[in-house]
Amino acid sequence: MKNIIDTLKASVIEYCSTIGADSLLVQGAGGNVSWKDKDTLWVKASGTWLAEAAEKDIFVPVDLPHLQAAIENGDFSVTPRLSGESSLRPSIETLLHALMPHRVVVHLHAIEILAHLVRDNCQTDFQSLLDDFTSWAMVDYYKPGAALAAAVSAALAQKPNVDVIFLKNHGVVIGGADVAEVSRILDMLTSALSITPASICSKSLPQIPMELGQCDQYAPVQDADIHQLALNADLFNRLDSDWALYPDHVVFLGPRAYTYKTWEALGEQIKSKYEQPELVFIRGGGAFVRLTFNKTKEAQLRCYYDVMSRQEPTINLIELDSGQIDELLNWDAEHHRANLAKLKTLDDTN
Ligand SMILES: [Zn+2]
Repeated sequence: MKNIIDTLKASVIEYCSTIGADSLLVQGAGGNVSWKDKDTLWVKASGTWLAEAAEKDIFVPVDLPHLQAAIENGDFSVTPRLSGESSLRPSIETLLHALMPHRVVVHLHAIEILAHLVRDNCQTDFQSLLDDFTSWAMVDYYKPGAALAAAVSAALAQKPNVDVIFLKNHGVVIGGADVAEVSRILDMLTSALSITPASICSKSLPQIPMELGQCDQYAPVQDADIHQLALNADLFNRLDSDWALYPDHVVFLGPRAYTYKTWEALGEQIKSKYEQPELVFIRGGGAFVRLTFNKTKEAQLRCYYDVMSRQEPTINLIELDSGQIDELLNWDAEHHRANLAKLKTLDDTN
C-alpha cells in the first residue's frame, strides 16, 4: 500500500510541475491540487506555486474525516486541522478538495475554460461544445472559501457522480481516480473548449515619449503580447467595462483598470500628485508598470490578456458586481464608499 501511495505522490508532484509551467493552465500561485491517502487529505499550501512542486514542499497534510464531518453538518467555514507537521497553511480552497469523492482533485483557472466561464451564455455553450461528455455540473459565482464550498456541495448533492464542476467567473474542479484520469479529462476539456486568440499586430515593446519626463517612473510591460490590451481598440474598450471578471484578477490587479486616452492625461494626473497607479494602459500606446509590479501580478496580467484575446467584440461578459468585489478585497461598506469617491475624482481627470 505504501508503495502505491508513494507512486501516487510522485505522479501528483510531477503533474503539478508540468501544468504549473504552462501559463494557459496555471498562473502564479493560482490553482491547487490534492490527493487523499486514507484519513489524510494532502492539499497545496496557500501562496505556493504548483510550478515549484518538484523543488519545494508545497503540500500540507489535513485531517480528512474532520472536514467531512463538518461538511456533513453544513459547516463550510470549518478551519482545516493539520494531521502532521507543517509550517504551511492549507489552501483557502481546501474544502473543495475534501468535498469531491475522488482520490485526486485538481482545481485550475485554465484559460481555455475560464475564457468561456466569464461569458453570460457559458452554460448553453458547454452543453453543445462538450457533446457527449455529461459528467459535469456548473455553479454560479461565489466568493472562494466557505460560500463556494457550500455551492459546490449543493451541486454535488444534485449530481453526485460528476467528475467536473465548472465555477462561473472562476475556474474548474476535476476529480479522478489517479493523475492519468484527471489529465485525460483536462486535455479533453481544453481541446473541446479551445478558442483561437486574436492575432497580434506588433511584437516590439512600446516606449514612453521622451518629453513626458514625469512618466519616467513607468516602464513597458516586458511581455510584448500584453500591449495588445491597449493597442487593439476592442480590447482597450473592454478594460473599462470588463475588468473584474474573476477573483485572483481582482485580488492582485485591483477592482478597476487605469486607462488613459493619451500620455498627457497620465502626465497631468502624476503632476497633480494624486493616486499613482501601479499599472496603466494608454490607448494606442501600451501597458506600463511601476517597479513594484511583481511576478505574481505579471502572471495575472498575462492571464487577463489570454482570456480577453479569446473574446470576440460582440460577446457579452459578466463582471463581478461591486458587492462581490468588496468581499474579495475585504472592504467594508465605508471603505467602498470612500473608494468610489476616489475613483470618481480619478475619472474626472482622465
Ligand atoms: Zn480558484
